[in-house]
Amino acid sequence: MQARLVSSSALAEGVNHFVFEAVGVDRLDFTPGQFVSLQAEIEGKQITRAYSLASAPTGGNGFELCLNLVEGGRLSPRLFALRPGEQIEMSAPLGTFVLRDPARASILIATGTGITPFRSFLRAYLPNGAPEFTLLFGVRHESNILYRAEFETLQQAHSQFRFWPTLSRPGSGWGGRAGHVQAHLEAAIGRRRDIDFYLCGLKQMVDGVRSALKEMGFDRKQIRYEKYD
Ligand SMILES: Cc1cc2nc3c(=O)[nH]c(=O)nc-3n(C[C@H](O)[C@H](O)[C@H](O)COP(=O)(O)OP(=O)(O)OC[C@H]3O[C@@H](n4cnc5c(N)ncnc54)[C@H](O)[C@@H]3O)c2cc1C
Repeated sequence: MQARLVSSSALAEGVNHFVFEAVGVDRLDFTPGQFVSLQAEIEGKQITRAYSLASAPTGGNGFELCLNLVEGGRLSPRLFALRPGEQIEMSAPLGTFVLRDPARASILIATGTGITPFRSFLRAYLPNGAPEFTLLFGVRHESNILYRAEFETLQQAHSQFRFWPTLSRPGSGWGGRAGHVQAHLEAAIGRRRDIDFYLCGLKQMVDGVRSALKEMGFDRKQIRYEKYD
């Protein structure tokens, strides 16, 4: 299958939001949390990379991605160089990083572009009777809080959703949470034990949060994760 770029726009320094359409199909069905693989020939080699879907399923063939330009990386610079109308090879949606069924109160923990599958979760499930969701989102600076206005609007509209950004390098004007996501786990959990955790981002954060949760006594079945590296 091919994906055609419709538009791309900067969300923060080195991070773009991409709108694509799947070519030759009327609809692209997927479950929030799944990813597509994009593929291109680079210096004579086929390079394939996975990208979480940032949008909720629309019933049409459109979909959105959110990605980082990795300096010296192979595929991400190629994607940032795509112009509207250009195409790239893609797979059908794949992956098991999806909301458990039945869903229950959940803490979604992301760093950087690890936010991407959670945007899909929130857009798909909040308007449709979702359980309680807390989104704990770690980034360096305030300007790196991807989709901030959207998440703030969702928080105002849905009482079961809490949006908790935290900055590892806050500026002097920041009055919100500071430090790594691990610093806010206990507050997000409170006294609950009947809760699920979804972790997404680079290995260092995912491994760190998994061991913290295990030390707190949570079962590994309560923890789903997706590592980007
Ligand atoms: C299931 C899955 C879903 C993914 N979804 C996304 C997504 O939604 N958005 C996204 O930006 N990336 C995502 N990734 C990472 C993506 O597949 C690529 O690894 C990334 O774009 C780098 O590819 P590259 O060819 O440019 O770099 P490579 O030439 O492969 O260089 C790899 C280097 O990039 C680092 N790296 C990988 N991912 C990131 C990242 N996100 N931020 C910073 N450094 C990184 C690795 O640690 C490694 O050092 C996902 C990975 C997986 C496995």
